[in-house]
Amino acid sequence: MTDSPAVFSVVYSSMATAPLDDAALRELLTQSRSSNAERDVTGMLLYRGGRFIQILEGPEQAVRDTMGKIERDPRHDRLRVLIDEFIEERNFAEWTMGYEPIDVPGSAAPEGFRDTFDDLEAHGDPSATLRAARELSFWFRVRSTQR
Ligand code: FAD
Repeated sequence: MTDSPAVFSVVYSSMATAPLDDAALRELLTQSRSSNAERDVTGMLLYRGGRFIQILEGPEQAVRDTMGKIERDPRHDRLRVLIDEFIEERNFAEWTMGYEPIDVPGSAAPEGFRDTFDDLEAHGDPSATLRAARELSFWFRVRSTQR
């Protein structure tokens, strides 16, 4: 029998169909955190300039089910899956859904990421997308531990 990694991870980007204010974001996060906790799904959500980037990780079926709900959500559209892969271990084990608005003045973007999400959507170079997503998730974790 082969050892298959148990953690499935998806990174996607999408555009908000209408600007989300703090209350709407709070509602979305409260809802997400409680249902992710039930399904053993962890990850993070970034929101900037009307664009979302989300990383989900957990048991494959749970992540796919969560993506199925998210894809049908009218609060955003133009959803593009950037990465879906099995990983050895979770990057966000402690977060049912970490959140980062990335609009605080003076918050430096990670090196190589500039201050847009564009690198994540670089066409024709999946390895650049993967690298940018990993840098971003690392940056997010470091920032959170510094608070
Ligand atoms: P129901 O309450 O039956 O929802 C019915 C429909 O209404 C669904 O299409 C739902 O998407 C939509 N809906 C629900 N609330 C609102 C609202 N306030 N305004 C407009 N439409 C609404 N869910 C998670 O469980 N985990 C996540 O990590 C997660 N991340 C998300 C990230 C983004 C960027 C967005 C936009 C949504 C996210 N959601 C997440 C929410 C997810 O899309 C579903 O709304 C949620 O899982 C409930 O789905 P349901 O079909 O069980 O709920």
